[in-house]
Amino acid sequence: MENIVIIGNGIAGVTAARHIRKLSDKKITIISAESEYFFSRTALMYVYMGHMKFEHTQPYENWFWKKNRIELLNAFVETVDHENKSLKLKSGTSVSYDKLIIATGSKPNKFGWPGQDLKGVQGLYSKQDLEQLEKNAPNKEVCKRAVIVGGGLIGIEMAEMLRSRKIPVTFLVRENSFWNGVLPKGESQLINEHILDHHIDLRLETNLEEIISDENGHAKAIRTDKGDIIECSVVGLTAGVSPNIDFLKDSGIELGRGVKVNRLLETNIKDIYAIGDCAEQHEGIGNRRPIEAVWYTGRMMGETLAQTLCGNPTEYKPGHWFNSAKFLDIEYQTYGWVFSERSKQDHEEHFHWRHAKENICLTIAIHKDTRKFLGINTFGIRMRHEIFDRWLTENKNIEFVIEHLKDANFDPEFFKAYEQEIVSQFNSTYNTNISVKKKSWKRIFSKA
Ligand SMILES: Cc1cc2nc3c(=O)[nH]c(=O)nc-3n(C[C@H](O)[C@H](O)[C@H](O)COP(=O)(O)OP(=O)(O)OC[C@H]3O[C@@H](n4cnc5c(N)ncnc54)[C@H](O)[C@@H]3O)c2cc1C
Repeated sequence: MENIVIIGNGIAGVTAARHIRKLSDKKITIISAESEYFFSRTALMYVYMGHMKFEHTQPYENWFWKKNRIELLNAFVETVDHENKSLKLKSGTSVSYDKLIIATGSKPNKFGWPGQDLKGVQGLYSKQDLEQLEKNAPNKEVCKRAVIVGGGLIGIEMAEMLRSRKIPVTFLVRENSFWNGVLPKGESQLINEHILDHHIDLRLETNLEEIISDENGHAKAIRTDKGDIIECSVVGLTAGVSPNIDFLKDSGIELGRGVKVNRLLETNIKDIYAIGDCAEQHEGIGNRRPIEAVWYTGRMMGETLAQTLCGNPTEYKPGHWFNSAKFLDIEYQTYGWVFSERSKQDHEEHFHWRHAKENICLTIAIHKDTRKFLGINTFGIRMRHEIFDRWLTENKNIEFVIEHLKDANFDPEFFKAYEQEIVSQFNSTYNTNISVKKKSWKRIFSKA
């Protein structure tokens, strides 16, 4: 029986294991150092915020693994010896494999800041980070202020977590507007305002220079590049993540920033594959980046690789880009490509609508010449994934999308609808006369 070993029990490794089991009788072992059982990393914040217990972040019951003959090994892999098809564990024991899947995820970036290894300084990635935060910032009496460094999705989550316990937060963001390398300016501005509304001390265009220690090696303050000293006992390092692959340095497996893979997710070494956050495509697919540290990518890669390993060689073809996240109280969804001003393409034009009073907006990207619909970002309105996926596949033009916006709205019926307002603004901007069509369930559920 073929022996498949997977390093990493995150969404990528676990999806691969589940699908290999569905398709075959192979021996499957998952090795992971972080936790015994798979949990949803994206839900970690809710544990600290008291919305759920850690056990609730585990989508499968503990008996699931044994029943499905997936062996779990709670251990750290130190080296991969591909010539002997063997892994060396930190405990000193070895594990052999016929096929190896590397799914070791990411680690928080550290940029060599003075004081970055002091007590009280931490990232937010792992279960251990969550436990550390619980110790470092149990309440506002122990943690009188936290400083978060790096304005991305994880930084804003950490700010929200700390604010849920009323801990004062200073948020250092290098850019002149929140996440404006990704978001167009109207949306980035909305989030700046929303952060301030949550009483978070947002400092734009501000970098960390140094973390200052007390006499016990614990962070007591930080200094910014503007010379400000901010007293704090917790420093959250959330300036992005990078592939967690240090242990592979001398393995002979080709590495770039991540583990280099082709479209079949194969590395340069026979019978070794990489998936999820740690995998790096030789060339990005379409507009996608070579490394995509997002949940859905790990899941899709896991499913794809299971096919290949079970006799149906399948290339990783992720389809249209989509993602979702939450910025404090505002839900964000994106379908297709809507670039920020920084990376906007020459042919790309944006239609932006923002509600006058509420935290609701959208931006639609349009091809200037062909009027083709390129993508949409929504804030505070929930949209139907299948509908945008279909419209992107069918190359719909912007007029069609505007006319049928109600079909795409996924908000419950009792939610307020804004299509009329959006269409009026579109008509006055583009001098058109589109009227929004009534929602049609027949259209919504028809196939492409
Ligand atoms: C706080 C937070 C919020 C997020 N929110 C979102 C979101 O809203 N939307 C979204 O799309 N994405 C989000 N992400 C990103 C998403 O969680 C990741 O893209 C995804 O979890 C990566 O899955 P993975 O399976 O590739 O790796 P991981 O989940 O990182 O799993 C890899 C596992 O391998 C283990 N491992 C590593 N090296 C070794 C070794 N040598 N030996 C043994 N074990 C090892 C690690 O300890 C880890 O348990 C978020 C991430 C974080 C941290």
